[in-house]
Amino acid sequence: MAFSFFGGIHPKEKKELAEHKAVQVFPEPDILVIPMAQHIGAPCKPLVKKGDTVTMGQKIGDNEGLCVPVHASVSGTVKAVEMRPHTSGTTMMSVVIQNDHQDTLCPEIQRRTIEQVEALSAQELMGIIREAGIVGMGGATFPTHVKLSSGMGKVDTIIVNISECEPYIVADDLLCREYPAQIISGLKLVMKVLGLKTAHIAMENNKPAAAKALKWELAPKDGITIDILPTKYPQGAEKQLIYAITGREVPSGGLPAAVGCAVFNAATCKAIHDAVYEGMPLIRRIVTVSGDIVMDPKNLLVPVGTCFNDLLEAVGTRENPYKVLSGGPMMGASQYDLAVPVIKGTNAVTILGAVNKYVVEQSRCIRCGKCIDACPMKLMPVLMYKSLQSGNIEEMKAQNLMDCIECGCCAYTCPACVPLVLGFKAGKQHIRDAALAAAKK
Ligand code: SF4
Ligand code: SF4
Repeated sequence: MAFSFFGGIHPKEKKELAEHKAVQVFPEPDILVIPMAQHIGAPCKPLVKKGDTVTMGQKIGDNEGLCVPVHASVSGTVKAVEMRPHTSGTTMMSVVIQNDHQDTLCPEIQRRTIEQVEALSAQELMGIIREAGIVGMGGATFPTHVKLSSGMGKVDTIIVNISECEPYIVADDLLCREYPAQIISGLKLVMKVLGLKTAHIAMENNKPAAAKALKWELAPKDGITIDILPTKYPQGAEKQLIYAITGREVPSGGLPAAVGCAVFNAATCKAIHDAVYEGMPLIRRIVTVSGDIVMDPKNLLVPVGTCFNDLLEAVGTRENPYKVLSGGPMMGASQYDLAVPVIKGTNAVTILGAVNKYVVEQSRCIRCGKCIDACPMKLMPVLMYKSLQSGNIEEMKAQNLMDCIECGCCAYTCPACVPLVLGFKAGKQHIRDAALAAAKK
C-alpha cells in the first residue's frame, strides 16, 4: 500500500534532457584521482606509494572500523599520493593514477559460479561486500556491509529506492532499463543476508520503462513487489520513502532499522551482484551529466576517479557555467574546483547557467507559512530560522533542527528567498560543535 508523505514540492523535472540517452562508456581519462574517503566513516589509509604499478580493481586503500576499501579503477602507475580537492568542499588524501590504458585486471578478481554463490553464508556475503568497497550509491555512501550486519534480526522490510526524485537525474532510471537482471540478483543477495523472503522496489511513476524492465525479470516466487509512487520531491528521502511504502514513521533522530526497514539504492544492488558473481569491486558507476546549459546531456559509465572537468568537456556547455553541482539542483553540493573526481556516491553532475543566478537584496520573512506546508519532516522552518538568528543552541534543538534533511523544499517555496537551507546547515554544525565542546569538558 502506498501512502503520501506530508509536504513536499513538484519542481520541474527536466529529466527529458537525458532520459532517452542510453548509457555510454566514458573513454578512460589519462589521469584518475581516487580519494581515500568516499564513504561515511574512517578514511582509508593508502596502501600504495608513488611509482607503484597498480592493476584494475586492486585494493589501494583500507582502514579499520567503520570503513570500506577503495580500489584502482584502471591499471597504471601511481603518480602521487597527496591531498586533492574533493566533492565535499575540502581536500582529501588521494591516490593519483597515470592510466596505462591496458586495463590489466587484478589477479584476485575471480568470478563465482551460481553454485559457489549459493553456498555462501550471510557472513561470507557481507565480507565480499565489504572487500568490494560497496557503499550506498544514492549519495549517502554509508558502508553497505554495516547496514546489512546492523539490520540482521531487526529488519522485516527491504526497500530498493529507485525514486530518483531530483530534477535532471536519470542515472538509476537508465541503470534499471539496462541492468535489470543484475539489480534483482543483487536484491536477492540482500534478502538472503537479511533472511527475508519479500522485498519492495519503490519507484516514482515517471519511470515506466524501468518498471517494465524490472517486472520482466521477476517471478511470483521471488516475493519482490514493485510499488509505483506518485512523483513528488523528496520521495527518495529515506524517511519519506519508508512512510510511503509501509506507513511507518522513523522516530526523530532514529534510523530506518528502528521501524524494521532497510533501504538500498538500485546501483548498490547492482554493485552487490557485480562483487559476488563477477568478483568486481565498486570501481565504475553511471553518472548523469546534464543541466540547462549542457549541449549534449549524457548518461556515462565512468571510472571512479574521473575528474569533473573531463565530464564537462564530454557534454559541452552553451555558456560558462554559473554553478556545477555534484548531484542534483535541490540537494547537490556546489563545486568550486572542477578538478574534483567522481566518487562512489556521485550519481550526477548538474551544470547550470546564469539564468539561475539571483541576487536577493534583502531577504525578510513575510510570515506566509509556505515553508511549513512544504516541509516533509513536519518541521517549522520559519521558527527554526528565527532560532538560528537568536544564536541560542537550546532553542535550535527545541525546534528539532537536527531532524532537517536539507531537502530544500522550504527554500524552494519561500517567496522572500530567505536562505533557509544554508542557515540550517550552519545551525546543525553549531549544534554538533557545541556537543563536541561539551564532551571535551
Ligand atoms: S530543508 Fe529542512 S526545514 Fe526545509 S523543508 Fe527540508 S527538512 Fe524541512
Ligand atoms: S516561506 Fe519564507 S517568507 Fe514564508 S514564512 Fe517561511 S521563511 Fe517566511
